[in-house]
Amino acid sequence: MAGVGDGVLPGSADVVIVGAGQAGLSVAWHLRRLGLEPGADFVVLDRGPDTGGAWQFRWESLRLDDAHRVNDLPGMGELGLSFDTADASRPARDVVRDYYARYEQGFGLNVARPVGVTGVREEGEGFLVETDKGDVAARVVVNASGTWARPFRPYFAGAADFRGVQVSTPGYRSAEDFAGMRVLVVGGGTSAVGFLRELEGVAASTVWTTRRPVEFTDDPEGGVRAVRQADEAARAGRPLPSIIHGTGLPATPENLAARDRGLLVARPLFSAIEPDGVRWADGSFEPVDAIIWATGFRAELTHLAPLRLREPGGGVRVEDGRSVREPRLFLAGFGPQASTIGANRAGRTVARQVLAELRSDS
Ligand SMILES: Cc1cc2nc3c(=O)[nH]c(=O)nc-3n(C[C@H](O)[C@H](O)[C@H](O)COP(=O)(O)OP(=O)(O)OC[C@H]3O[C@@H](n4cnc5c(N)ncnc54)[C@H](O)[C@@H]3O)c2cc1C
Repeated sequence: MAGVGDGVLPGSADVVIVGAGQAGLSVAWHLRRLGLEPGADFVVLDRGPDTGGAWQFRWESLRLDDAHRVNDLPGMGELGLSFDTADASRPARDVVRDYYARYEQGFGLNVARPVGVTGVREEGEGFLVETDKGDVAARVVVNASGTWARPFRPYFAGAADFRGVQVSTPGYRSAEDFAGMRVLVVGGGTSAVGFLRELEGVAASTVWTTRRPVEFTDDPEGGVRAVRQADEAARAGRPLPSIIHGTGLPATPENLAARDRGLLVARPLFSAIEPDGVRWADGSFEPVDAIIWATGFRAELTHLAPLRLREPGGGVRVEDGRSVREPRLFLAGFGPQASTIGANRAGRTVARQVLAELRSDS
């Protein structure tokens, strides 16, 4: 009989999980361990063409070694898999796609793809999940849709009239696309640093600009601080702070050497964009052929708009992965959980709360 994995959606399920990235898979694994049947009690829907969550779309040259650390999904060891021992010479997108595929198969998680969720609205005691393959009624929804689809580009006067190339992080394919160009990289995170290092010797020149001064640090408390700040913002319904603002950039020998030779030295932000370059605050002009916006992401919550979750401050109130306004809605991988380790933790806390919610009214 055709099932979820063959693209045939059930008309209803206790739980619908939107997204099969690290967060969605982690929730699915924990629900299965708590006794729920994948494809029947819960269904995982993902609009991507393949396994890997957002990792399947990352640029070819990105390796696991360049990433912060990709934590293993829960239970991965039972399948003899670990990112720590994966082949670091392969593109990260291929490794993660491959490992997630074996994980989904190994635990029979029955992910339905490609299925795009277009809307989630209240219906009866639960929700109607509208998709491009039909609707599914759910008692509980776990949203784990990540951020990749919502790159954030700050507004600057003149950006629309810039005559050169402009891409955000998801549009970056390889340094060769910028061969011989004068490239401006905007943003203070790991992606910006990665782009600058790749562009060195390929682009004619690079300039780096960031909103805040850049700090290279080994401070082990940075991650803890960043997660705490994101958690406070999520609980209060404020817009989420940049994680890198809390952590700083890793003071690896490669980064420090690149700083010392002048590659990773950031200027304060420009004041305006002009057709052929940017104008610095001191009035001087910088001619550039391309601008790479590595300026972060926002949570992809478009399909949740019918639920009107936004607070007046612009954020969404979430406590321990659970929406405050809609207690039957969970947001896994959101705010303080937006890392592979945070997504793993989300799996455990969200799955337990989901089960308690199902039991409370059965
Ligand atoms: C360049 C880059 C490098 C990073 N490196 C690291 C790192 O080294 N270590 C680390 O811990 N974190 C890293 N991160 C953060 C990383 O993205 C997260 O840690 C984690 O992989 C995100 O998992 P997720 O499940 O929340 O989201 P995703 O991996 O984005 O998964 C979300 C899934 O939801 C699906 N989806 C979205 N909307 C819909 C919809 N409407 N209907 C159906 N499906 C939908 C998408 O197709 C996708 O498969 C990095 C992020 C970036 C941008």
